[in-house]
Amino acid sequence: MKLFVICFIFALFLLPTTVQAAPPIGLVVNGEVLQNLPMNPVIRQDRMLVPARAVFESLGASVEWQAAERAVYIQHNDQDVIVTIGQRTLMVNGLPIEMPIPAQIINYNTMIPVGAVATNLGFEVDFRDRTVFVDSFMMADEPEFEELLPENFPPSHFLTEEEEVEYYENDYYFEAYDDKIGDEDIEPAPADVIPLPYTPGIPGFVAPIGQIIPARDMSTERIPYANFPTATVFHVGVPTEPGLQMFYIVAASPISGVERLLLEDNRLAIDILNSTTVLSGALAIPPHLAASGIRVSQFTDSITRVVFDLESGTEFVIGISPDRMIITLTVMQQNLTDINFEAGEHYDEIVLSGVRPSALRVQPSTGRLFFFISNMQSDLAFDTPVEGNFATNLSLSALSAHALVLDVAINPFTAHMILQTGPDETTIRLFPATYRNVFYDFEARTLRIPRVEGFSIDPAMVPRSDMYHQRQFILWLPDISEHIGFGEMLVGDTLLRSLTIAHAPNSTQLIFNGNQIFTLDLQEDENYYIIRVLHPRERYPRIVIIDPGHGGRDPGAVRAGIRESDLNLNVTRKLLQLIEADGVIRAYTTRNSDVHLGETSAECLRARANFGNHIGDMFVSIHFNAANNTNAHGIETYYRESGLDAFRTLTSRRLADIMHRNKLTMLGSNDRNVRSANFAVLRYSTIPAVLLELGFMSNQAELARINTAEFQWMAAHAIYSAMLEAFAWVPERQ
Ligand SMILES: [Zn+2]
Repeated sequence: MKLFVICFIFALFLLPTTVQAAPPIGLVVNGEVLQNLPMNPVIRQDRMLVPARAVFESLGASVEWQAAERAVYIQHNDQDVIVTIGQRTLMVNGLPIEMPIPAQIINYNTMIPVGAVATNLGFEVDFRDRTVFVDSFMMADEPEFEELLPENFPPSHFLTEEEEVEYYENDYYFEAYDDKIGDEDIEPAPADVIPLPYTPGIPGFVAPIGQIIPARDMSTERIPYANFPTATVFHVGVPTEPGLQMFYIVAASPISGVERLLLEDNRLAIDILNSTTVLSGALAIPPHLAASGIRVSQFTDSITRVVFDLESGTEFVIGISPDRMIITLTVMQQNLTDINFEAGEHYDEIVLSGVRPSALRVQPSTGRLFFFISNMQSDLAFDTPVEGNFATNLSLSALSAHALVLDVAINPFTAHMILQTGPDETTIRLFPATYRNVFYDFEARTLRIPRVEGFSIDPAMVPRSDMYHQRQFILWLPDISEHIGFGEMLVGDTLLRSLTIAHAPNSTQLIFNGNQIFTLDLQEDENYYIIRVLHPRERYPRIVIIDPGHGGRDPGAVRAGIRESDLNLNVTRKLLQLIEADGVIRAYTTRNSDVHLGETSAECLRARANFGNHIGDMFVSIHFNAANNTNAHGIETYYRESGLDAFRTLTSRRLADIMHRNKLTMLGSNDRNVRSANFAVLRYSTIPAVLLELGFMSNQAELARINTAEFQWMAAHAIYSAMLEAFAWVPERQ
């Protein structure tokens, strides 16, 4: 799993940078620029391929080409990797691991995907400024550990109990750790999502989407320090069968001390004090384990650090063998052995045997409750109707190799609560919603909640998440649970399908599920908090639909490894920044990531147009061009004549003229005119619609130009000023 994560992250920072500067791609190994390469790195399907021998030999690995097998054998420290030409399976220490793309022979050179191969050999890979950086693992300049430690470290004798407490409770020591580990990359949480702590058993708690359940250290005692000569850590073992969840770290002689540090993102660092290691880098580990990644490093001169990427909700115990040569990390087994449903007069109960509440994460939807159950083994799978007063159907399926999802179909006005009913038993109780003081006025499509003393719903201060692509809008209010209760309220009007009221320890969440795209307006008067559910057209006087062309499995034109879909998205994101900074126009995008919008291309194009037809004032599709004639260059603007033009002042033709003139002025590109065309997105649009071609990827000089941030910013400015100009032709909405 870790491998895919690494590749994914690698791809993330690869995408924006591939579309920024000029060739060729540089290669830097441990800080040295590699010269005289047989071939420069190339990008294929978003992945970086590098010449195998040149790169890995300069990292001190041994590289052998086995002609008969068409395979490259690479060895570094105790990691063995076999890469076979044309195969996506990478063998790491005898274990198969999937790579995103196979190794290839290009111009007689063996080119291998550097991200997948190098990380499995324990190297770090980075791509920025059109340069690949490969480094031996954890070579970052960290401060000398000794400088950060209290004077009496390490203890020179067996500690008394008192001394031990004092030693371990020394903040100084842990601060030093925090500083260091904090330097590693931690993805910041999206700004509009407030992370909430998970407390098992809190009724109706909803974890924010994507939230991981913190792992928990269940060890009852610490491993006492004992002074031994420096130990050598030579092996880290992983469970070989899915059922047995014990990891172990083995040294050649007794270990003096062990420290642990568990981070919020479920990384567990185990430090073996007074030790050195022959290991370095990431372990290849099979799936189905409680840890998705394990890395070993010589953290300081005297500390070996083993980092485990623990799965969501993992509960573990750290121990040491009597001879102090083996440290064990035992994951407390959770095996979902049985699910029982009991319908009762006052409530229904779903009893999960073998599961503790910490493994559960709930996500309510309209008429459904999804319980994500992490770090779990189970052979159970079913989909069955039940005759409950509150639940109507239960379905259990595997979400991934170590997570399950229990999908509970519920009647309207059902609330839920999670209870621990045994050492390894969790009960989901369904009962009548208890929300109160919440009034939905269907006529006015307005939710009213009587004001609570001392709490103001200042719209600027209420965190929110407008997930309009999912037709969902979440507001995070201060905790007013006592005031409004909890549960699902079925609304079922044209805009709003339902409202779920859920509580976390310090907040109340209002989760609005829509039947179509909607927005919210927050206000308060003397007596009420007032949340109006609005159609975007009721709320915003000017709405544009921006359609970054292509996406997902349809990359559009591809030249020199650069994908049109990414260029389109780059311009769109810059345009969004301009629009949002100004606040005059509200923008909705047909996609904001690299996704395809339908089963078929036709469906996808129709979906884009339909999306805009319902809410927008104008539709702007952003594209780059390609032609067989590599001399072709410049900009074009497309529109389609429509019978609807008779009814509007801003016709598609007029919008196209305005766009084209602004593009020409700002970009100074070759003028290839405003043109009429029957493109699907234009044909299906019922609002003024244009398709912009911003330059030819098939022209080498133009590709170099459009592939820069400067050009993309200019294009964004041109489109934005054209939008402002075009809105002068749109009659104001009341
Ligand atoms: Zn295109």
